Amino acid sequence: MENTDLRLASAQRLDAQDDLAGYRNEFVFAESDLVYMDGNSLGRLPRRVLKRIQAALESEWGRGLIRSWNTDWYEAPVRVGETVAPLIGASAGQVVVSDSTSINLFKLVMAALALREDRTVIVTDELNFPSDLYVLQGCARLLGERHHLHRVPSLDGITIDQQALLDAIDERTALVTLSHVTFKSGFLHDAAAVTERAHQAGALVLWDLSHSVGAVPVELDRWGADLAVGCTYKYLNAGPGSPAFLYVRRDLQEEASSPIWGWFGHRAPFAFDPNYDPPSGITRFLVGSPCILAALALEAALKPLLDAGIARVHEKAMRLTSYLIELADAVLAPFGFEVASPRDPMRRGAHVSLRHEDAYRINRALIEEMNVLPDFREPDNIRLGLSPLYTSYTDVWKGIDRIRQVVSEKRFERYTNDRLPVT
Ligand SMILES: *Cc1c(COP(=O)(O)O)cnc(C)c1O
Repeated sequence: MENTDLRLASAQRLDAQDDLAGYRNEFVFAESDLVYMDGNSLGRLPRRVLKRIQAALESEWGRGLIRSWNTDWYEAPVRVGETVAPLIGASAGQVVVSDSTSINLFKLVMAALALREDRTVIVTDELNFPSDLYVLQGCARLLGERHHLHRVPSLDGITIDQQALLDAIDERTALVTLSHVTFKSGFLHDAAAVTERAHQAGALVLWDLSHSVGAVPVELDRWGADLAVGCTYKYLNAGPGSPAFLYVRRDLQEEASSPIWGWFGHRAPFAFDPNYDPPSGITRFLVGSPCILAALALEAALKPLLDAGIARVHEKAMRLTSYLIELADAVLAPFGFEVASPRDPMRRGAHVSLRHEDAYRINRALIEEMNVLPDFREPDNIRLGLSPLYTSYTDVWKGIDRIRQVVSEKRFERYTNDRLPVT
């Protein structure tokens, strides 16, 4: 970009005009100089979660003890699911909170393949999250290797050609399952178009919303989606290992069966009936005792996001990522960086990846000595997550400026390429 204003003052001006800027006060900022760019891996701690968990510990667990199951806990998976629902465009009775994304994916993939027993192809893409691909491989194995996993390739490692994807779906396709926003490049699928094509072919569709919920609009009911899963510790800020959610379209619930028959997925868990008998609705996809504290944290964490509204959050995500890309083109490209995310803001989520041959070592230097927290994704991506509710334009400016310092001063050369367990 030619006319980009590269001065810090321009970032400060954008912050002054930002009508979401006040939401920063909703979050804990323990270190004022820290530039946090990993809200798409672990969202910041919302202040109201601190209060909610303190109260849950003292009054519900500490004082209420087992009585709290009847006052606040037993209904939590459904109640908190209904709180997530507006963020994913789901009307009542279709969302519950439970387990992890990978486990929910397993449950819904097994249910979907059983509903299309005469079909043998699962369509996904090469940019999908590895855990999702592993779950699909595991499901195929459990079902006797009858299914072929068709991974639509990415020609540039950043995008998926939409026509190639649509062409891969035909009458052999049982299930199409994709990450709505891909974890590395941030590419955003046209979910309505893919869902429509899958339904024309008689296939079911399962969206993984982990990197899109809380960052971009999701309209499951309007798309006509069949199934969805998603994670809550990223843009939903519910904390490490917080429970995931799952969505099953209302008119599929009666025929879809969970592959894990646990007591919380029984019609009457406390009847202690020795035989499995599922309820008619969405709760048949619950399994066992839910992680109550984390579900309550999620419930509290959602308030600022629901209050701001996903349309404004998405608008800011597009502006922040566009600003980052402008700065990266002007300041970092001369040092060998390349933008590895879609340049069209309508085709990406709220994170941007920058490729560099020394990405791993630069990332180490940023964390160790520059007070910047991005993450690294193999083989050469520095991934910068700009969670819109609490990331400022000044954060983006500082992040880019500190990356520039690391490369121009060759600070990264002191680090090795030996990978830490979590990158
Ligand atoms: C983060 C993420 C997950 C996480 O799965 P867990 O089982 O919660 O660890 C799954 N899928 C996608 C696409 C993700 O981005």
